[in-house]
Amino acid sequence: MSIYGDYIKSVIRTVPDWPQPGVNFRDITPLLQNSAAFRKLIDSFVHRYQEMDLDAIAAIDARGFIIGAPLAYELGCSFVPVRKKGKLPFRTISETYTLEYGQSEVELHADAFQHGDRILLVDDLIATGGTMCAAAKLITRSGGHVVETATIIDLPELAGSDKIREAGFGVFAVCS
Ligand code: AMP
Repeated sequence: MSIYGDYIKSVIRTVPDWPQPGVNFRDITPLLQNSAAFRKLIDSFVHRYQEMDLDAIAAIDARGFIIGAPLAYELGCSFVPVRKKGKLPFRTISETYTLEYGQSEVELHADAFQHGDRILLVDDLIATGGTMCAAAKLITRSGGHVVETATIIDLPELAGSDKIREAGFGVFAVCS
């Protein structure tokens, strides 16, 4: 957890029963509306990764892009989108996975990485860990090395971060 973890958590809103009954949706829009909080969030990631010699930030569609792009800019890395099915125009590779609510598929351009590239994979939240695992496997299949996975919020009660670690990938969460 980041030193700003409690503060970041305090500006994230929980919306009960959205998008369906039983889901407590963690809404990061109040965090994004608060420029001081958003700066602290990005600084938390920059502080952790600035000495890690990364080649690229891979970010998961769509809220992962919001943190991935400023992080790539600050760290001087390239930015690679991991997208939902059917959004990337060139040759793709894909992985299917199970969400907290439903099934989905993530895609990556087949030429997104050079063999051995050091990649940080980011998304806004880890619930079951399925999305992050699928994306990390895609990056590995494309020749990239996932240095770590990073997120704003981990929901430990769903044990997603355990699943990601068991699959062989490290996890950093700003708050849980
Ligand atoms: P999972 O694959 O189950 O770890 O789900 C993580 C992905 O689904 C992330 O891209 C999140 O944006 C989204 N997600 C899943 N559950 C929630 C939730 N309770 N609140 C906000 N986003 C969620």
